[in-house]
Amino acid sequence: MTPYDIIKKKRDGFRLSREEIEYFVLGFTRGEIPDYQMSAWLMAVFLKGMDDEETKDLTSVMIESGDKVDLSSIPGVKVDKHSTGGVGDTTSLLIGPIIAAAGVPFAKMSGRGLAHTGGTLDKLESIPGFNVNLSEKDFVEQVKRISIALISPTGDLAPADKKMYALRDVTATVDSIPLIAGSIMSKKLSAGTDAILLDVKCGRGAFMTTCEDARRLAEALVNIGKLSGKATRAVITDMDQPLASHIGNALEVKEVFDILLNPGRSSPLREVTLELCAHLLEMAGLFNDLQHARVRAEELLSGGQALKKMKEFITAQGGNAEVVEKPELMAEAEVIEGVQAPRSGNISNIDVMKIGILARDLGAGRIRKEDSIDPSVGLVLHKRVGDSVEKGELLATIHASRKSDMVKFKSHLAQCFSLTDEAVIVPPLILDTVY
Ligand code: URA
Repeated sequence: MTPYDIIKKKRDGFRLSREEIEYFVLGFTRGEIPDYQMSAWLMAVFLKGMDDEETKDLTSVMIESGDKVDLSSIPGVKVDKHSTGGVGDTTSLLIGPIIAAAGVPFAKMSGRGLAHTGGTLDKLESIPGFNVNLSEKDFVEQVKRISIALISPTGDLAPADKKMYALRDVTATVDSIPLIAGSIMSKKLSAGTDAILLDVKCGRGAFMTTCEDARRLAEALVNIGKLSGKATRAVITDMDQPLASHIGNALEVKEVFDILLNPGRSSPLREVTLELCAHLLEMAGLFNDLQHARVRAEELLSGGQALKKMKEFITAQGGNAEVVEKPELMAEAEVIEGVQAPRSGNISNIDVMKIGILARDLGAGRIRKEDSIDPSVGLVLHKRVGDSVEKGELLATIHASRKSDMVKFKSHLAQCFSLTDEAVIVPPLILDTVY
């Protein structure tokens, strides 16, 4: 067996055995197979695909490449939730406190934002003092004590994924279903929870732009989870426009606090959060049906238990919990300016990809992993698809660190909104569920 043979076999459309995948992926992780051969192999997988068995084998080899977290000392069904990535996708920060308030252990390791998508760790770090770097021991202790901890991965979880992702990012091989499924599930399964809920984003701001592809990805993810003996489910949700109205790290956290403080006010972020919470409460075995689980999630939000849990969670991880009621203690942008509607009409589209890139260019995200971010900057959208606006009405507000690029940013932001005189059909937020 040589790397050349394995690349050629996949290039010619044949399936690879577990031994071949193991030889290739572990060899690459150890530095014995060079980047150029892995790049060629990734492109062969991108073009020829992998069947369920190969995808499962790829995932288990990636898990084998690193450490595994042991959560067995935490009583109860430990749950995790993962989103495939979107813009204004802040559900984890609300789901965690709601689920933990129900007594279900929410033990989550998260990532940072990359490209146009945000990352939970960056958002949490906009809370003064918040520490995402707990040891595995402290992580486990905190989940035992308050049912929630949310941290950066400890140890060396799925190092094969880290190395492969870096190459995928620069070889146009990210949006491949077996590669995404292996990447996500190797990290989730290494993280040791009993139940995994996947929020598979679908739309122009997601890796999967069509419902058919999102469903195929959801099925691949659920299949891997089940073959590994974990309760796994996927909910397919809309990413044709940003989910939250606030985009940017401190801004998104402030929207989360606002929902906790005003739990009766409806919003797309609240709606998707409650749907995902209902699934998690059912998966944890607290309810036999989604309706009752959903009612419980709403009670925990409206009764203030989730708010209390959020403060406990922030304090436990070294943050200043006063920020929940005093969000002005968090970073605020130097310059805030609005963009008005150029004419009256109905909003037919908000270009979610451009919005994500604009937020990144303002400093909310990073292009390279080592870039630093500015927690204060971002965008606030005052309108959603389907809303009608009058000429001159505020569409969105830019929060920037300096005035110099404001003219350029405002013009880019204005171009993100499309207006029509026709009636607009608003897409549903929840598109499908895969069990
Ligand atoms: N998120 C991941 O963790 N991996 C991918 O490949 C895509 C999204």
